[in-house]
Amino acid sequence: MRLPVLFIGHGAPTNALADNAYTKALAKLGRDLPRPEAILCVSAHWITPGSRISVVDHPKTIHDFSGFPPEMYQIQYPANGAPEIAREVSKALLLPTDETWGLDHGTWTVLKHMYPKVDVPIFQLSLDQSKTFKENLELGKRLEPLRAKGLLIIGSGNLTHNLGQIIWDQEAKPVDWAVEFDTKAKEALEKRDENLLTEPASWGKGLFRKAHPTADHYLPLLYALGASTEKDKLSYPYEGFEYGTLSMRMVRWG
Ligand code: ZN
Repeated sequence: MRLPVLFIGHGAPTNALADNAYTKALAKLGRDLPRPEAILCVSAHWITPGSRISVVDHPKTIHDFSGFPPEMYQIQYPANGAPEIAREVSKALLLPTDETWGLDHGTWTVLKHMYPKVDVPIFQLSLDQSKTFKENLELGKRLEPLRAKGLLIIGSGNLTHNLGQIIWDQEAKPVDWAVEFDTKAKEALEKRDENLLTEPASWGKGLFRKAHPTADHYLPLLYALGASTEKDKLSYPYEGFEYGTLSMRMVRWG
């Protein structure tokens, strides 16, 4: 069975403990999707020199954030890795393996709601920030055949992510530039406009840099787009903002 592809806006790590419209949408997704053999997650929070595939039997829960309440550091998501599948993927894509990484919060805060029974094996593909946007998209395209092997590919980032501009009120009204970027990105995804989506300068008025002072939360989108095809039906399991500046949009292809 060919699995859909997802891009998930993960937002604040505290969503792991929240119960709101966003987390309910994640839980619904987990229930609605065909059951994956394993999940391959490309998270904003694993950046390495060169791309790597995590090959680990029992990936540790990484608490890669600071300044949060103590209960955030006690959360465990004790999923199994998928070392055999991960090794096959590393061979097929000619990418090196990594035996040290676990699950960063871009992965486990999302999966905790999608798969609360912790019963789907997971592995990650790192972000190589030395790659151009186009190269990230091209690597995403090489993931597409894995969907037919039962892999659920998830890009986890945020469609807008500028922590310097955060409004410290989770329910704050979204600011203009965040809405503009989110809307423009949605239209570009619908047109599969790879040129716009891989050319920060083409967004005009410094809009891209305003939405993404660094590209880490944007690049997982290019992997998910790459792993999709124009035949996949596009839908948005959740649309909305938190802290006035973080787009929490989820995108589903297929
Ligand atoms: Zn993040």
